[in-house]
Amino acid sequence: MFNQRTAKAEGGSAAPEVVRHSRYPTRLTMYDKAPALEVSIEEFETFALDRLQVLRAIEDAQLRAKGEDDMRKRISEALERHLPLHTNRSRLPSRQLMAERRKDHVSHFILRLAFSRTEELRSWFLRYECALLKHRFREADTAERQELLQTARLQLALVPQAMRDEVLGDADAFYSPQEQLFEVDFERVLDLVMRAQVVLHAGKAYVPQAEIAALLVHEFRQRLTRALAVCAKALPQMDEDERLVPVLQNMSNQSARSEYRSSTAAGAVSADSVDSLGANFPLCMQHLHAQLLKDHHLRHGGRMQLGLFLKGIGLSLQEALVYWRRAFNSMTDDQFQKGYAYNIRHNYGMEGRRADYAPYSCHRIIMTNPPGPGDHHGCPFRHFAPERLRAALHQDSLADPDVREIADLAAAGHYQVACTRHLEAKLRRRPSIQGQEAPSAPVTSPNQFFDLCTGSVVSPSASLSA
Ligand code: SF4
Repeated sequence: MFNQRTAKAEGGSAAPEVVRHSRYPTRLTMYDKAPALEVSIEEFETFALDRLQVLRAIEDAQLRAKGEDDMRKRISEALERHLPLHTNRSRLPSRQLMAERRKDHVSHFILRLAFSRTEELRSWFLRYECALLKHRFREADTAERQELLQTARLQLALVPQAMRDEVLGDADAFYSPQEQLFEVDFERVLDLVMRAQVVLHAGKAYVPQAEIAALLVHEFRQRLTRALAVCAKALPQMDEDERLVPVLQNMSNQSARSEYRSSTAAGAVSADSVDSLGANFPLCMQHLHAQLLKDHHLRHGGRMQLGLFLKGIGLSLQEALVYWRRAFNSMTDDQFQKGYAYNIRHNYGMEGRRADYAPYSCHRIIMTNPPGPGDHHGCPFRHFAPERLRAALHQDSLADPDVREIADLAAAGHYQVACTRHLEAKLRRRPSIQGQEAPSAPVTSPNQFFDLCTGSVVSPSASLSA
């Protein structure tokens, strides 16, 4: 645990007294308490925008970095530029240290409020705040890590050295002998389980000291998820604050997670041309399209996902009825009219409550309604087993190094980043649209993938509307 000797051994003097007794004695925090201090409206906006720059830089680094070191460098540079947070052992004046910590604290809570508005925004914020905490924890020295673990109250059960044999048997050989091990429920470290970096035994995972960041991030994610839900409920009460609401809305609109609206006009695609456009589909739609051609049928989840996607790329209602009737060629006209045509008209706002349904976003496809046996909807990067995903990418003519990299990203849970790499690999192979700008942020919608693949949009950001 943290002590004076450790701090000095890390190189530097211990915290100045003024810092130790201040509102922010430690640099890293789990943001458990909201700030109780006054902030001017200018600071409110500047702080939040600076933090947003950092979160977007992390998103960008996950997309573009060439390896772990490059990713760390990119994130550290963004932090230094927009949200520096020096240690107690830096030689900076206490006043500056306090100002940095105040900005970090306040900006987190402003964005928490701004991003609590919708599930999609919450998910974006959660993802990159977790990545930020993980980065800072990894870059911190031993003393700071111990301080944060202490304040986080993780309730870890240390496996005594003498009992490791008894608890783990032969599996103990997986770890180095002197490494401390902590026993936790496996759900707390799914990331490590997926990467086979821990031994599982009777529902418990044995986490080595070196991987403790995964536990910390899990705990942070749980707490922040709950806090965002509370914020979302409180948000309507702020609707009348004319100074803050526009600022908060502006913040969240600047994340690349707003709903994607294609500029393609209805009628741009005919029933006859759908099949020839399949090569421009993202993997989720390629899979649904291939299954439809093979089985002449799709279950409800697949029909909704593919049907609204086709609507989004410009298939009109009349052409959609022709297309689906032809595809479902093993049933009678009567069966089609009674069982399926209503749904198609419904998707186009011609039945029921006549809502004009939008195509599904990646977030919705990845996070809701997972496919069961016999279903083909969902996101292959999220829902396919690794072998099946690699086969699908090979089938789309990707080179081995691309397949490896994309499959690794998917295995690490970066589904939309993996999909964006897929898009980039496709764009590289296409002489007809060479020079098309690579996406500057992960793909957020299958329709955005299609538009970029066909060259219908020049820049993804131009099509992202609030
Ligand atoms: S990330 Fe989105 S576009 Fe890509 S395969 Fe998954 S759901 Fe489809």
